[in-house]
Amino acid sequence: MAAPMNAPARIPNPTTDWQQQQRAARLSTGELLAGLGLSAADFPHGVIAAPDFPLSVPPHFRSLIRAGDPHDPLLLQVLARGEEALPQPGRLTDPLEEADYREAPGLLRKYRSRALLIASGACAIHCRYCFRRHYDYGEAMLTRSREAEALAAIAADPGIEEVILSGGDPLSLPDERLAALVMSLEGIAHLTTLRLHSRTLTTIPDRVTPALLALLSATRMQVVIVVHTNHANEISDAVAAALGRLRQAGVTLLNQSVLLAGVNAAAPVLAAHARRLFAAGVLPYYVHLTDPVAGAAHFDVDEARARAIEAELRGVLPGYLVPRFVREVPGRDSKTPLSAL
Ligand SMILES: *Cc1c(COP(=O)(O)O)cnc(C)c1O
Ligand code: SF4
Repeated sequence: MAAPMNAPARIPNPTTDWQQQQRAARLSTGELLAGLGLSAADFPHGVIAAPDFPLSVPPHFRSLIRAGDPHDPLLLQVLARGEEALPQPGRLTDPLEEADYREAPGLLRKYRSRALLIASGACAIHCRYCFRRHYDYGEAMLTRSREAEALAAIAADPGIEEVILSGGDPLSLPDERLAALVMSLEGIAHLTTLRLHSRTLTTIPDRVTPALLALLSATRMQVVIVVHTNHANEISDAVAAALGRLRQAGVTLLNQSVLLAGVNAAAPVLAAHARRLFAAGVLPYYVHLTDPVAGAAHFDVDEARARAIEAELRGVLPGYLVPRFVREVPGRDSKTPLSAL
């Protein structure tokens, strides 16, 4: 039956419903390019129409990509280019050997005082450089039924001071599920700090809901959120406003990036990013060198070049805005600074 004229619109506002934006993120390579006035011929190795790791680009992130520019630093993070399908000898599907660090289902323990929960296998955005792009979340992920086992392992070890919710992206979970998890962690007396690593906050700034703010300000634990952004263009005014609300809720905000060829591998680009983050109340934390994951070799920046970029950054930024350049070396008791490699 046709809706009566003048009936109020029932469609949720696409600019505020974060779950709808998450669903709207799936699109084909062709749709992404057509929306930007580009074609496969604009890229040296073309594009892949149906990659094994499907495209996912939330509408807000898409709106920040410049039309008509095949070098756009946001586009290159999400577009499946032909390089992914070229032979990449020596590349791995689990480059960090994370399967060796599972203490309980969904619980990764590499470092003494911090334990990491794979709270969700889903991400709003699919980043082409992702080191977990081949990850078997089926086995590794925290599910409701396995939660008790992971929580018991944390409760049994007073050496764990901080729990890190990671993924995938923990903020792809609904607020009620997140609230229940945080409540359970609250009950473990030796936990002082709750950390979330998320790329959803900056790709869907509407993810900062009143319920999320309420739950983060109510916990007795110190809350740290590490946002994942790689370029100043990702910090739109809407993103900065969302980050400001988190700061008001008492959250400490840090950023980590991956050093990506063609996206941010130049000191002036990283300096502009650091300044933009600082203006939004976020301190740069880590810049990670890429891990040798299969399908992402075209993003690699070699160590000599990374060292030169780091030195140049020190020359132009105050010390507190220079991120730590690190690589993850399996078996070490912390991330390894570039200077110690
Ligand atoms: C990176 C990482 C951490 C956190 O390390 P920090 O140096 O404290 O940021 C914790 N657990 C795992 C498994 C990690 O990969
Ligand atoms: S948000 Fe993180 S985990 Fe998810 S695809 Fe991007 S890099 Fe990978």
